[in-house]
Amino acid sequence: MEGEFWNPEMELLSREEIGDLQLKRLREVLERCRRSPFWKEWFREAGFDPEKVSSLADLRALPFMDKETLRGGDPRRFLVVDQEDIVRVHASSGTTGQSTVVFHTARDIETWAELVARCMYMTGVRRYDVFQNMMGYGLFTGGLGFHYGAERIGAMVIPAGSGNSKRQIQLMRDFRTTVVHIIPSYALYLLEVFREMGLDPRRDTDLRMAFIGAEPHTESLRRRLEEAYGIKAYNSYGLSEMNGPGVAFECPFQEGMHVWEDNFLLEVVDPRTLEPVPDGEEGELVFTSLNREGMPLLRYRTHDLSAVYPEPCRCGRAHRRIARIKGRTDDMFIVKGVNIFPMQVERVLLGILGVGSNYRIVLETVESRDEMRVQVEVAGDLWHGEVRELERLRRRIVEELRQEILITPLVELVEPGSLPAGEGKAVRVGGTREHVRGD
Ligand code: ADP
Ligand code: ZN
Repeated sequence: MEGEFWNPEMELLSREEIGDLQLKRLREVLERCRRSPFWKEWFREAGFDPEKVSSLADLRALPFMDKETLRGGDPRRFLVVDQEDIVRVHASSGTTGQSTVVFHTARDIETWAELVARCMYMTGVRRYDVFQNMMGYGLFTGGLGFHYGAERIGAMVIPAGSGNSKRQIQLMRDFRTTVVHIIPSYALYLLEVFREMGLDPRRDTDLRMAFIGAEPHTESLRRRLEEAYGIKAYNSYGLSEMNGPGVAFECPFQEGMHVWEDNFLLEVVDPRTLEPVPDGEEGELVFTSLNREGMPLLRYRTHDLSAVYPEPCRCGRAHRRIARIKGRTDDMFIVKGVNIFPMQVERVLLGILGVGSNYRIVLETVESRDEMRVQVEVAGDLWHGEVRELERLRRRIVEELRQEILITPLVELVEPGSLPAGEGKAVRVGGTREHVRGD
């Protein structure tokens, strides 16, 4: 195949070479951290001697860190370079509370752009492509992160940013956009807007590819987007604490996302015991940045649930793959004693013909009992059809959900386009119940 590797030297490392490079880079990172007051204290408290690290497993002597660690106090304490060397600041979107801040040096921005270019090139983005970046610009990493990667490849970038749906569609048509970067729930919603405008993305655009990420979504959602837009949609995973996009990405085989292990050391742990889980088993992803100059992070708990695919990938890359993210550990909610993840509900809903572009889970306390109500938008043609048909659809949804989540939810069918659709990450669960989370 013609030039499918952006950086063959890194992408084609063997398992052994990856391990060697990781250890070498880890030692360099520790050496740099050692000079900062924060890390010096962190190491001292853990009784950890960075000079004695002779294997990757030695890192396990360090405690984990997470958003809470980053939130308390001045974020500049995590810098291991002079503040003058910082050229950019980003922040997380704040899905679970106060956003966390990350600083980058010029070299960090360079490394990040290279990683995103590697991801995009792997799926087939080339110089001749027109790339419309429909993610929020500004502090959120999805905008500038992809922007720099796409420019590096030499594609033409439309820095559209998020929202303003009709204009997005207009831009796609005016500039003959071939590739988009878009939040999956928004991509689904945008189909409604195409419909309202009397347009069909398959016929009326030149789209051939989409990168979808920033929020959990199911295989059913991906398939819907691929069919409705007539494109290939690739799953893109990242978090601002590890730059942003470019941490893990699907290759053309679309079977799990390759983690770029030359840059990120991956551990998967049981979120309760914090012990490592074997490949193939579900656990929480923990990353150590191996190639960040300004603000390295060691053993950072993402709270994202996934699993490593044990088998090597057919594409020839030995960088391990992770499964689609099931959700964050705190996405789980409990109804009538049953643990439920929003993605279980999505998987069922989007597998049913007649279900439209949006849904919402509402948790309430009714007469001191937990109730779960699922509001489901109906597909456009069905909404104007027969009531009997709608009732049949409703019952089918109740029954299929019951099989999946083992309790019987209330299901309410609503008009297409009537549920709130944000421009950012979708909020799937709401309601008046006090304790929505599983704690
Ligand atoms: P926040 O944690 O405030 O949302 P970020 O903007 O840095 O901050 O987003 C990173 C998080 O977004 C990840 O930790 C993960 O929970 C979620 N995420 C990013 N990409 C994906 C993806 N492809 N699939 C599922 N979840 C994702
Ligand atoms: Zn692959």
